[in-house]
Amino acid sequence: MEGRGYGLGIMRGEADELGLMGCGEERTGSGPVVTVLLDGPGDLQFDYLVPEGLVEGLGPGSRVLCPLQQRRQPGTVLAVHEEAPEAGRRLKPLISRYDERPALPGDLLRLARWVSEYYCAPLETVVRAMLPGSVRTDRHAVKTRRMVELVRVPGEEEMVVMARRAPRQAEAVKALGEMGGRGPAAEYGAAVVKALAAAGWVNVSEEEVERDPHGGDTFVATQPLELNEGQKESLEAILEAVAKPGEAKPLLLHGVTGSGKTEVYLQAAQAVLDAGKSVLVLVPEISLTPQTVDRFKSRFATMTERIAVLHSHMSQGERFDEWQKIRRGRARIVIGARSAVFAPLTDLGLILVDEEHENSYKQESPPRYQARDVAVVRAAQTPCAIVLGSATPALESWYNAQRGKYRLLTMGERADSAGLPLIRVIDMRLEKRRAGPKGTPPIISERLRLAMDQRLQRAEQTILFINRRGFAASVQCLACGHVVKCAHCSVPMTLHHESQRLVCHVCGFQKLPPKKCPECADPGILLAGYGTERVHHTLTTVFPKARTARVDTDAMQQKHTLRDTLQQFKTGKIDILVGTQMIAKGLHFPNVTLVGVLNADLTLHTPDFRAAERTFSLLTQVAGRAGRGSLRGEVIVQTYSPHLPAILHARHHDFTGFSEQELEMRKVFSYPPYTHAALLTCKSPNQRMAEFTLETLHRRIVENAPEGLVVGDPAPSPLEKSHDQYRFQILLRAPRTSLITRHVQPILRGTTFPQDVVAVFDVDPVSLS
Ligand code: ADP
Ligand code: ZN
Repeated sequence: MEGRGYGLGIMRGEADELGLMGCGEERTGSGPVVTVLLDGPGDLQFDYLVPEGLVEGLGPGSRVLCPLQQRRQPGTVLAVHEEAPEAGRRLKPLISRYDERPALPGDLLRLARWVSEYYCAPLETVVRAMLPGSVRTDRHAVKTRRMVELVRVPGEEEMVVMARRAPRQAEAVKALGEMGGRGPAAEYGAAVVKALAAAGWVNVSEEEVERDPHGGDTFVATQPLELNEGQKESLEAILEAVAKPGEAKPLLLHGVTGSGKTEVYLQAAQAVLDAGKSVLVLVPEISLTPQTVDRFKSRFATMTERIAVLHSHMSQGERFDEWQKIRRGRARIVIGARSAVFAPLTDLGLILVDEEHENSYKQESPPRYQARDVAVVRAAQTPCAIVLGSATPALESWYNAQRGKYRLLTMGERADSAGLPLIRVIDMRLEKRRAGPKGTPPIISERLRLAMDQRLQRAEQTILFINRRGFAASVQCLACGHVVKCAHCSVPMTLHHESQRLVCHVCGFQKLPPKKCPECADPGILLAGYGTERVHHTLTTVFPKARTARVDTDAMQQKHTLRDTLQQFKTGKIDILVGTQMIAKGLHFPNVTLVGVLNADLTLHTPDFRAAERTFSLLTQVAGRAGRGSLRGEVIVQTYSPHLPAILHARHHDFTGFSEQELEMRKVFSYPPYTHAALLTCKSPNQRMAEFTLETLHRRIVENAPEGLVVGDPAPSPLEKSHDQYRFQILLRAPRTSLITRHVQPILRGTTFPQDVVAVFDVDPVSLS
């Protein structure tokens, strides 16, 4: 829920009563009547009559065009009432329809209602998130081409006349005849085709052409592998759940990196397809998990046209085509990120959520849903089987397994029988001491440097992981200590060497680096901290002969660069790969025997109760990139906090140990998963207004707060200012989400917000900043 529109609740009635109508005929005819949710803010719902010509195939989920005041407004049918409207009730008729059958299948409409209620998002926003823009209104998004067909063949004499009077028309007719009487209109020119059609020689029609966003890629079919014991047990449990949908619990597949989860997914998917049902595969982000998508495409290479891939870099048209392919039941496997949880698959047999712990399953704009959790609800509603898979399950999921809500499946061994990598922790405090009081410790410690050198000698590969882009984390004046901050956000700006710019990593604002301190004019500048650019740069002096590459969003601007770079790495053309999260996940390179984590502290000291969980999971994922072949891997982790549980447990590959300790802490402080949380934030360019509004809300929330609701104190957000907006927030916690939302939502609805204040209500937030 977001914005200043809280005052408008859901209403259903006649547009008349609300004084919204003005034109068009009104009728009291006989049914059917539909309730329509109009596009736009306010969740407006009105009843309309269905004219006879529009009745067939109309149902909940149909997209329609409705009269509203002087305008025409598109909307989505929520319900069809077969009974005639009450006597005397004057309703307006629908104007037209957009689809032949409901764009949104009934089960998704039901899911939309759940999402809307649970996340306090307007139903309209949820429906909007479910339907791609092109599907909502534009039926011409189908890519078509105009075809001409010769319907009357001119005789010889007519041909002579035509050739004299209109030589180009004659040529077109001749060419068409040679092509079997049919051809694309574009080849003959619009004027010629028009003239020919007018004279009755040809017919013009539109023919549908399907775009294939993956055209050109070819895949060689892979064969199923012989499963090991752990995999067999997991597969059996999954197929059991597939066979008894509705009875089986959601499955949590906890498998160490490299345990062969993907192979289990592939074989489970095959079995479900064989049983005539469809499969939905959710991945954190397509661009970060190209290998997972490729493995599905390869395994099902003989039926690629039955796989639909949904991702954020698709054009409207591509998205439309993939969506239609799913809606019409032609696609039987859908792979996609977050929003694919709403893919209109029919006969759904299985949902797979890969890397279920990933934050990117949470949508950070309205509707702020968590796709993993929505998937669990969708599976229960359908009903179908669902598997959440991870090497480091979210503690929420882990806790659900512990208390019997989910069924836990464990795969503790690597499938390719490579042992788990050896993890060494380097205490950077010692390195700092060694560097002396004035010196800075090296970016690459001696221990790591030696290990890398060894790899170069042996022609093995190294991955260096650093969770920050750019060259220097911040730029500081040596004389007065002034740090250059973003003009729009409360964060220091990062120096990017390649573009020679200071960049704000929150809002993207850029400027030229100062030549001297903007405060005291001293020319001495300290470059503090480092990112991928600087690490990459360092390599040129430390290992001048090594072939290196950098992978981060700056370096990967072009569409295929990531794939190309990874391909080069795979084929051994690169020795050392430096990168951010982009290389942390799902990559599998047998020749990588060393992974260096340069600054494990970056995620550790963020003001968030999940900081330790994130660090543990990131370290485990990154470590999983080492030693995936027959060679044992080694991981070197540099940190200033070697004693913290997240690091200690990661070092011993001990998820269970970590989760026990971390859950204990969460329990003591009543944090999720022992409670549900919601974050209420007020944002405004006016600092005082943001603070004042939040304090007012806080007062209202505390008044009559139900038992069990823990209301935090209003405070500036950790990120105090972002995009020119000041931010203040309250964290709410309760044993059940509904305890929070049922109390807070009416308060938000009943509050008139000042002009320049926006309230954001985030249920089950993943980011507390
Ligand atoms: P995860 O998804 O759990 O990280 P993967 O599915 O990527 O693990 O498997 C890791 C590696 O082990 C892959 O190269 C995969 O082909 C291989 N693998 C998986 N299952 C088997 C098996 N049963 N026998 C041999 N190799 C396997
Ligand atoms: Zn900024």
